[in-house]
Amino acid sequence: MSKLTVALVAHDHKKPELLAWVHNHIEIMKQCDLVATGTTGGLISDETGLEVKRFKSGPLGGDQQIGALIAENRLDALFFFWDPLNAAPHDPDVRALLRLCSVWNVPVACTPATADLMVTSPLFLSSEYKPIKPNF
Ligand code: PGA
Repeated sequence: MSKLTVALVAHDHKKPELLAWVHNHIEIMKQCDLVATGTTGGLISDETGLEVKRFKSGPLGGDQQIGALIAENRLDALFFFWDPLNAAPHDPDVRALLRLCSVWNVPVACTPATADLMVTSPLFLSSEYKPIKPNF
């Protein structure tokens, strides 16, 4: 059975929340192929020992690299703890990434509560569940 490919991204003020969330769900994360934007990925692999494929840092194009995975139907879920209280220089990329999740029906969690509910769903790791992909 092939593993789910899961992307992890957190803006700077949200990195501690994402790290704590990954610790809470580490057994599930171990069963996934993890990718992340540069700084988020470095932090997670350093602090948890999980293997994480790191793209560029978000402001340098990392969000767009994750978007490319979505466009190629190579991403199964995104955990994206973006910061609603601070402006980001790469806001257009942030919006583009969220937009692609909606275009391609990719599950995306932007808060720890949603992320908790998503990974604890019996459908999350089930090979039976495949989100419907739109036929454009
Ligand atoms: P970072 O990028 O993981 O490199 O900090 C995240 C982002 O700002 O989108």
